[in-house]
Amino acid sequence: MTSVVHVTTAETETAETETRSGAEPTNAKYVYAFAEGGREMADELGGKGANLAEMTRLGLPVPPGFTISTAACRYYLENGSAPPELADQVANALTDLEAARGKKLGDPTDPLLVSVRSGSRFSMPGMMETVLDIGLNDHSVHGLAAIAGDERFAWDSYRRLIQMFGKTVLEIDGDRFEVILRRAMTRAGVSADTELDVDSLRAVVEDFKRVVSECTGQDFPQQPQRQLDLAVLAVFRSWNTERAVLYRRQERIPGWLGTAVNIQAMAFGNVGEGSGTGVAFTRDPGSGARGVYGDYLSDAQGEDVVAGIRNTLPLSALGDLDSKSYQQLLDIMSTLEQHYRDLCDIEFTVEQGHLWMLQTRVGKRTAGAAFRIAVQLVDEGIIDMDEALRRVSGHQLGQLMFPTFDVSSESAAIAKGMNASPGAAVGQAVFDSSSAVKRAEDGERVILVRRETNPDDLEGMVAAEGVLTSRGGKTSHAAVVARGMGKTAVCGADSLDVDTVARNMTTRTGLVISEGDVISIDGTTGEVFLGEVAVMPSPVARYFEEGLESALGALSSEPGDVEMAELVRSVDRIMSHADKVRRLQVRANADTPEDAARGRRMGAEGIGLLRTEHMFLGERRALVERLILASEDDEREEALKALLPLQRKDFIRILEQMDGLPVTIRLIDPPLHEFLPDRTELAVRVARAEERGEHIESDLRLLQAVNRLNESNPMLGLRGVRLGLVLPGLFALQVRAIAEAACFRQRMGGDPQAEIMVPLVGSIQELELVIDEAAGVLASVAEAHGCTLRFPIGTMIELPRAALTAGQIAEAAEFFSFGTNDLTQTTWGFSRDDVEAAFFSAYLEKGVFGVSPFESIDREGVGELIKIAVAAGRKTRPDLHCGVCGEHGGDPESVHFFDEVGLDYVSCSPFRVPVARLEAGRSAL
Ligand code: PEP
Ligand code: MG
Repeated sequence: MTSVVHVTTAETETAETETRSGAEPTNAKYVYAFAEGGREMADELGGKGANLAEMTRLGLPVPPGFTISTAACRYYLENGSAPPELADQVANALTDLEAARGKKLGDPTDPLLVSVRSGSRFSMPGMMETVLDIGLNDHSVHGLAAIAGDERFAWDSYRRLIQMFGKTVLEIDGDRFEVILRRAMTRAGVSADTELDVDSLRAVVEDFKRVVSECTGQDFPQQPQRQLDLAVLAVFRSWNTERAVLYRRQERIPGWLGTAVNIQAMAFGNVGEGSGTGVAFTRDPGSGARGVYGDYLSDAQGEDVVAGIRNTLPLSALGDLDSKSYQQLLDIMSTLEQHYRDLCDIEFTVEQGHLWMLQTRVGKRTAGAAFRIAVQLVDEGIIDMDEALRRVSGHQLGQLMFPTFDVSSESAAIAKGMNASPGAAVGQAVFDSSSAVKRAEDGERVILVRRETNPDDLEGMVAAEGVLTSRGGKTSHAAVVARGMGKTAVCGADSLDVDTVARNMTTRTGLVISEGDVISIDGTTGEVFLGEVAVMPSPVARYFEEGLESALGALSSEPGDVEMAELVRSVDRIMSHADKVRRLQVRANADTPEDAARGRRMGAEGIGLLRTEHMFLGERRALVERLILASEDDEREEALKALLPLQRKDFIRILEQMDGLPVTIRLIDPPLHEFLPDRTELAVRVARAEERGEHIESDLRLLQAVNRLNESNPMLGLRGVRLGLVLPGLFALQVRAIAEAACFRQRMGGDPQAEIMVPLVGSIQELELVIDEAAGVLASVAEAHGCTLRFPIGTMIELPRAALTAGQIAEAAEFFSFGTNDLTQTTWGFSRDDVEAAFFSAYLEKGVFGVSPFESIDREGVGELIKIAVAAGRKTRPDLHCGVCGEHGGDPESVHFFDEVGLDYVSCSPFRVPVARLEAGRSAL
């Protein structure tokens, strides 16, 4: 046999050419029966296949089946044909499956039907293909009808097969089928497809088959084996659809993994009222509340729940409809949660009173639920605190620190849906994905409003602040995808009539909201508001700012607040554990006493970067102008003298806030022109004055200075240490202000721990010159004030040359702090102010990198320089203290890298300090 699976008749010609492989078979195993696998095999079997195998192993009621491994998909994607071994292996597995069910695939009298589903290592909800009811054709449909004793069911299944197969495998526009179905419903005078009778469904099947012939030039394949072959290939191909590629990029899932394919005996939820299908969670994935939770649809099949086509019933409704299956399901859910030691999500089908498990996995959850569930599981003795810490992330913590809507605000909700993914989002209503993308590119905030979303809406969802749908439950596509992305979503707001053609929606009271109107959606309550609603700070942020007691004290005894209190306590316990286990210290970047205090409240163990340049702005600009314009030493000294007390005061206040903790004060860094007026404005002013015959000496001098200081690449120009070396007295002034501030704090009984840091150093000579000057100043201040000043003087490492000569530089530097913003800029040769807007989107799209190197550290390039510098620096000076103070210090992934390479601390903006503490803890595990 030469096709992917089987080539047996002339009908398979296309499949044969597509799948023929010139390669010789090897012993490679590509097909695994469910009984052969287990959850540890997710790399080979994908998440779904591994978990189906695991459930089979646990003895749960799983319809029998087998999995084609991800390796087969990779082979297909690389070679354009399936591996030569696959056909026989699938044939054998199918024979076993047929034996297990006592039926033959597509048998005209009693057909075995199978589902063909994708399933990769990482969950990619709705991104890839599924085909159900494989094995039905013009003959077996009668067999199925006779065996099930239900003609309607058989014809409904057949039309579903042609529809899914047509869209997925034959790539026919899905609307072609939808139109026919809707027309049939209108003709029959019914509003749901479940109400169509057999005759209508037969007619629909005929119409569907005609569409297939028209669009493909071939009849709908009647040969069950060929249906299976083609469906398998379609699943392989669906790995590389645009939406799947986009999703992977978003979620940082490697593109080479490939998908497995699961082939499984069908279980039918659409055999009348005693059957149905559902999705369930062992705890609430939205809030983390204890207790089972989910959606159920009776007389429905497979994807109906997730597709959000009909509004669902709560899971508990199954208890009323079929208490035996419900109880069995609850028992299984409890078994699964104990077994997986985590929240599980489950897909199941009830076929005429028989419960079948179709899928389980460790469920996605919101950030808040992640913290609550982790701590609940600790309290239930299922996991320990280390494991709890592993199960939450800095990204999630960051999300929890965002504000929510102010519930006391005046706005009345115009509609209410399900609270599908929490948060508060405000933006202009848009009614299709591409408008969302376009408006977001124009800098607008948008809310994507759809009847229901499908995978084609992904780009719009990415671009939007939040998603609102009028149909579908908490497990609909919109809800699942939004939760995964940490986006706010309200789903199933069914009082809204969404008209995507007219681009508006109408509320029950007749209020029309058109594209561009601002709406606010609350993903925590499910409410929708017209206009912009005021937002309220998050209790988790409050906890960090003000402590546990204050955060809890601000919450009421309302149920929502009680849940919030559990969340705050959970965050507190996990943070304490992170602090206990972490090695890496966390400092804050702070330039003002307010920021310093905030950083300290957030848990910073010092200031890792105090940028002194803002101390030269505002009303002090005039003094800086004098300093720059001074032609005589006297003039310059005058200006410096005037600046001294101002600087000293700044430092006193910050050292006071951070008493007892290190404060790394960086000498002035930016180029001087930043302190002078804009060149063009000044030139115009001078020209206008000249026109009027006036001569303004000060403006003229200023313009000359601006012209003199003008640089093509100011970021690579006269800044940092270079400025300190060419503008006499500037660094000395700053060092004196620091020294005097420290003496003052000492006299006041304080414990000032200043550290002096020199920016943009490229060579030891530069640093030595600055240190010589500083040492003189420190000695003279110490003598004059009778105090002891023992400040470490160190350098930023933010140029490749500094990293490469770090061994030498460490002879002079008492500490290193990596300036990863400039180090990224200078390593890549990217202008940090320009490139992100200019071309990073193209770079991200082309996969040059998966994430901006300004956002997450480039381990291979910039990271390598850091490693080299740390090693060389510590060779020279074994106790060299090393930290990082670029933006990467607060990025979760980068924190792990800095811990790995042995830095002593990361420093980041005060708001990111908790995230860095958490990630430092996780990294230590
Ligand atoms: C850096 O370059 O990473 C840094 C912290 O300094 P700045 O951003 O002020 O240049
Ligand atoms: Mg820098």
